[in-house]
Amino acid sequence: MRILITNDDGIHAPGLAVLKQIARTLSDDVWAVAPGEEQSGAGHSLTLSRPIRLKRHGDQRYSVSGTPTDAVMLALAHVMKDAPPDLILSGVNRGANLAEDVTYSGTVSAAMEGALAGVRSIALSQVYPREGMGDTVPFAAAESWAGRVLAPLLEMPFEAGTLVNINFPALAPGMVNGVRVCRQGIRDYGRLRVVERTDPRGYPYYWFGLVPAIETPGHMTDLEAVAEGYVAVTPLHLDLTHGPGLASLAERFAAVG
Ligand code: MN
Repeated sequence: MRILITNDDGIHAPGLAVLKQIARTLSDDVWAVAPGEEQSGAGHSLTLSRPIRLKRHGDQRYSVSGTPTDAVMLALAHVMKDAPPDLILSGVNRGANLAEDVTYSGTVSAAMEGALAGVRSIALSQVYPREGMGDTVPFAAAESWAGRVLAPLLEMPFEAGTLVNINFPALAPGMVNGVRVCRQGIRDYGRLRVVERTDPRGYPYYWFGLVPAIETPGHMTDLEAVAEGYVAVTPLHLDLTHGPGLASLAERFAAVG
């Protein structure tokens, strides 16, 4: 099995080293193609207005001067063109990718790009307990539980255009209650905090504050699973159509003709 690992925290992120160890337990043929710099929050963006540089860091290890989506695209279309991966693992992200985070997440978007390309793709994220931890986030739960969570996912077929999103709770491995398959949650919107400061030249600048979003965990969602100490495993797809909306919209527009 040939594995491509990528992330949105960048080629030098500790979580990518953790993911490499996880991937190496599955195969000796592991390739890393990841953004050269942190791209958290890049979502599924694609670089069209600038050239992309590819830098070789060693055997089967490259960085891309772009987004996680750029990295997967360049890996599939160029770096690994003659020997495409059987599996794409994205992560292990420093921080949760739960609920609507998946639309902001470069980690999940890299897996989305893999799914679009028809490659089995899985995103992995490690929740951490508090902000301000920088690169000191403990990945112990991911390290200990990834093998158990990935094994069944590698044995089953994935439906076309689907991916799997995994979040490890912020707990020591022995405190994790198990694995729960659950749907994507959605938070009450509470995260908007803009920090305004002044730069050395006297101009204002703004930075989005990372306040915890308010949440009322819905039953059987990824938010609830992680809050209750489980590894959350959520199948995702890229069809964002709201099913019930189709009928009500069609009704509205029937009169318009
Ligand atoms: Mn990230």
